[in-house]
Amino acid sequence: MGIYQIAVDGPSGSGKSTLAKGVAKALGIMYLDTGAMYRTCGLAAIKKGIDPKDEDKVRSLMEEMNLEVKFIDGEQRMILDGEDVTGSIRTPQVSVAASDISAQPVVRTAMVDMQRTIAKEQSFVLDGRDIASNVLPDAKYKFYVTAKASTRAERRLKELNEKGDFSQNYEEVLRDIEYRDEQDMNREFAPLTQVPEAIVINTEDYTIEGTRDYLLSFIKEEN
Ligand code: C5P
Repeated sequence: MGIYQIAVDGPSGSGKSTLAKGVAKALGIMYLDTGAMYRTCGLAAIKKGIDPKDEDKVRSLMEEMNLEVKFIDGEQRMILDGEDVTGSIRTPQVSVAASDISAQPVVRTAMVDMQRTIAKEQSFVLDGRDIASNVLPDAKYKFYVTAKASTRAERRLKELNEKGDFSQNYEEVLRDIEYRDEQDMNREFAPLTQVPEAIVINTEDYTIEGTRDYLLSFIKEEN
């Protein structure tokens, strides 16, 4: 059994995290949520009162801050300046800051370096926007996960409400999703990309388990 990687890319709310997590569990390998890393950078900017689009300020922020990814009992934890912030990075405000800050080359370079280092130690499923196109172009398996923006907004709203967050209504969640789609797809540096060899999975077509099993059907047994 060699080390291998599975890249799962797709837009916000496509269901890629749920899918990637389920696949990692089924295969008994690790899961890395790369969005959580950009979210932590976004949170760092909010905490310091820095505009995530301000290149100079973000450069100094990246020099000063200490971001760590830890796996505790197999679960990814995000540590910012020694504090576990995993529970604080899923707010609508952090989502937008993450999308803004992730467009900055200085941020992407640092996060991509960390992602490559983490993923070479063991077999990993990674989810993100640029895993197959940029982070790990040699990943053994590449998937592109999609769903309509309206479905993605409905899911995101349900997720927020389940956490007791009622700060946004459907229209606002949809607007945030469209804002992030537009930025993530059109930024100059490592945008959301569907590589030609990726297997496309539309998560509207199946249940959560069905989607996972469909993806698993492409993984060859030799692993
Ligand atoms: O996946 P998630 O929605 O948590 O990601 C938050 C933001 O981080 C995205 O909107 C995107 O801008 C950015 N991101 C990225 N590249 C990745 C993962 C996330 O630019 N590989």
